[in-house]
Amino acid sequence: MPKYYKEGKTKKKPREVRVGKKTLKPESMMMSYGYDPTLSEGALKCPIFQTSTFSFKSAEDGKAFFEIALGLREKGPTEELGLIYSRLNNPDLEILEDRLCLWDGADAASVFQSGMAAIATALLAYLRPGDVIVFSEPLYGGTEYLINHYLPEFGIGLVGFPAGVPLAQLADSVRDRAAGKRVPVVLIETPANPTNSIVDIEGVATLARSLGAGDPRPVVMVDNTFLGPVFQHPLKHGADLVLYSATKFIGGHSDVVAGACVGHADVVERVRTLRTFIGTAAGPWTGWLLLRSLETLKMRMTAQMKNARYVADFLADHPLVKHVNYLGLMSEDDPMFPVYRKQCVGPGSLISFEIEGGEEAAFRFLNALQLVTLAVSLGGTESLAEHPTSMTHSDVEPEDQERMGITPGLIRMSVGVEHFEDLIADVEQALEAVRSGGGAGKARAEAQPARAKATR
Ligand SMILES: *Cc1c(COP(=O)(O)O)cnc(C)c1O
Repeated sequence: MPKYYKEGKTKKKPREVRVGKKTLKPESMMMSYGYDPTLSEGALKCPIFQTSTFSFKSAEDGKAFFEIALGLREKGPTEELGLIYSRLNNPDLEILEDRLCLWDGADAASVFQSGMAAIATALLAYLRPGDVIVFSEPLYGGTEYLINHYLPEFGIGLVGFPAGVPLAQLADSVRDRAAGKRVPVVLIETPANPTNSIVDIEGVATLARSLGAGDPRPVVMVDNTFLGPVFQHPLKHGADLVLYSATKFIGGHSDVVAGACVGHADVVERVRTLRTFIGTAAGPWTGWLLLRSLETLKMRMTAQMKNARYVADFLADHPLVKHVNYLGLMSEDDPMFPVYRKQCVGPGSLISFEIEGGEEAAFRFLNALQLVTLAVSLGGTESLAEHPTSMTHSDVEPEDQERMGITPGLIRMSVGVEHFEDLIADVEQALEAVRSGGGAGKARAEAQPARAKATR
């Protein structure tokens, strides 16, 4: 094996580290798992392997690595794919992939240059002309665009169903629409963006077995960007592949675009192989940044969730707020409540809420924010707010927006790690600006120069 690379990692080895009788939790392993400092001159932290290619110790090694990489023969029981070329593998990516597996209890992972690269590569690995893809709605805007605008051009049929509705009410219609077709993929996103509607992962995995022509059994893919990898573990509920925009919570600092998938070894292997041939792997610098981010993932997500609870409670009591979509506020009478209790470990830190007064009020609110930044994206350390109807979901047809609860007064907020009292003060003054109808622009104008100076 190349010198800097930890030897003897195999996909099949149990991903468990024990201290005495205690099996360590993922957060305890994020600083060290899969990396051996003695192989890197004792460097405590994994170096950035900023290299396109790797030298082979012998021609025999090079031959063996290629045989395995191209699937020309099965790997021997103790044999590993050696490092070849950074579009195929790189230590920063492989160590990151090992650590990502820990949160979801996955066999294997694969890291991509963006969340969309992960999603597109996973879909293309399985879908062929004449097939049908079954998916929940709404989906992330990019995914929705890819499915609705590109897949039909490749002869792929679309069967969508709404999130937030008990599957018992939908199963027959989904089965009818997919009847007699090959259905290789069922893709769901839960909770859905921006409404926080949820989809029953276990129910979908069961439904998938009865879909289409029955052969092949569909691969159930779950976009787990909103709650994962800390607060929801879809593989435990019957999913086969978990997809991430690592740009969001996994990266967590709004400074890197990346994606990942984790899941059963054979499913990930098929996606990873296509990653090699369409070239969607992340680079070493991205891998290194994400390794750094993973060390604080649990802390960040927990702090953000606590803050979000305070902000959601404040919003729910405010007279200008019509309703708040936050999992932590879901009523026990909601037909989806049992699903929430079954599959979510926590409510996360994404809130959407509708304010009185439609788009005009929503814009006034967004323009008046001083601590919270007006920007799309989510999951970073800083709080962000945006207007789904005119921004992230502007591509969705107006009648579909209406049906999905994406209304002109809706604001989406990703809650960061600031002090919750400061966040509430900002939200409160912005709502006050909506109510009074003035002063907000001035407040923002005063806030801006200070911010610009600070970034210089
Ligand atoms: C951001 C996002 C994506 C796309 O990820 P990129 O890293 O921007 O390519 C996919 N799904 C969800 C739920 C997202 O929030």
